[in-house]
Amino acid sequence: MVRIAHIHMSGCTGCLISLTDTYEKLLDILGAVELVYALTLADEKTEITETDDKILIERKIPENIDIALVEGSVCLDDHHAMDDILTTRKNSKIVVALGACAASGGVTRFARGGQMSQPSHASFAPIGDVIKVDLALPGCPPSPESIVNLITAALEGDMEYLEPFAEIAKIGKDACGCDVIKDVINKSLCMGCGTCAAACQVRAIEMVEGKPNINSEFCIKCGLCGAQCPRVRFPELLQKIE
Ligand code: SF4
Ligand code: SF4
Repeated sequence: MVRIAHIHMSGCTGCLISLTDTYEKLLDILGAVELVYALTLADEKTEITETDDKILIERKIPENIDIALVEGSVCLDDHHAMDDILTTRKNSKIVVALGACAASGGVTRFARGGQMSQPSHASFAPIGDVIKVDLALPGCPPSPESIVNLITAALEGDMEYLEPFAEIAKIGKDACGCDVIKDVINKSLCMGCGTCAAACQVRAIEMVEGKPNINSEFCIKCGLCGAQCPRVRFPELLQKIE
């Protein structure tokens, strides 16, 4: 049976909640896989070491994970987080950056440190800055349907469906509203469909005279507009068809 893990880095658990929002489809998935690690949903084997002045509790990321769904970015100033993400890569066949924080940094791009109780925790990076990522699913959170579809395709080995997500894993780390400006509008590819504006979860995009206008003050760098735009991907193919 395929072994799936949910790894919680610096995230808000919204991606996991989005997965549970699939109701009976989640039950179908859970019936077809073995959930080997998910701190929010399941107890883990713990190793407890007692010394004179402290108790150490470790919840180890298991070996031989087939698909690791990683939510949240990596705090580079937290050695536990660095250990977790490196162990996840070492122990997993497929690593999925689930959601904007893991895929592109998302709101954690704006972290600057200086807050109690860990003022030194200042630097947060998408997981692809630290480890190789196989698939990335943008969104804050990604829609329940997109998560189920991606997991189902991964279980079935549907490489054609997964290819765009593999592509986003390679290029998606700078995600922001600027993507549709530089990759679509500036390349004369925009057809004014408004999909980017509909996809933006913080309404940072407004259609003005048939073209998207990005309000960068609102943009939370989730990467969804670029991922959803029907013209941002495969422009060479589109040009050939036209
Ligand atoms: S403009 Fe909206 S959809 Fe695009 S990256 Fe920013 S927040 Fe995400
Ligand atoms: S989704 Fe792409 S093609 Fe459609 S309006 Fe936005 S930038 Fe233009």
